[in-house]
Amino acid sequence: MCSIASATSVELLMSLLNHPLKNGAMADEELYKSDRSVLGLIPHQVRGNMNDFKITPMCGHAFNMCIACSTPILSEFKADPKTFLLTACNTPNYLEDLTGITQKMAEIDIDAIEAFDDFAFDSDEEVNDDGEEKIKT
Ligand SMILES: [Zn+2]
Repeated sequence: MCSIASATSVELLMSLLNHPLKNGAMADEELYKSDRSVLGLIPHQVRGNMNDFKITPMCGHAFNMCIACSTPILSEFKADPKTFLLTACNTPNYLEDLTGITQKMAEIDIDAIEAFDDFAFDSDEEVNDDGEEKIKT
């Protein structure tokens, strides 16, 4: 797997570096619309599995609350990199607070999520004395 992943990564990087826009090359969900270099297609990412020996080029859009690359994170980092890193390492929810993930999580109505409550786990399911379902590991 490592050799396949590294070889694919090198091919993707070479294709990206040979595009005039380099990392500004655009991918599209309809792959035929994605930018190409002289070496071929430039997807955002490449996923593969050994189940059917298939490698799939993909397009993924940036998450506006990403704790690695969203605008609030990059702005804070650029403003004061040392303070940003120290705060991120020493304050557990700093990145989530900065991106708005904390607020988003607080807005979730857990009662509206019923899918897992009603999910049946075949024969691995047990019920304890309180009537709660337990799952064997
Ligand atoms: Zn990101």
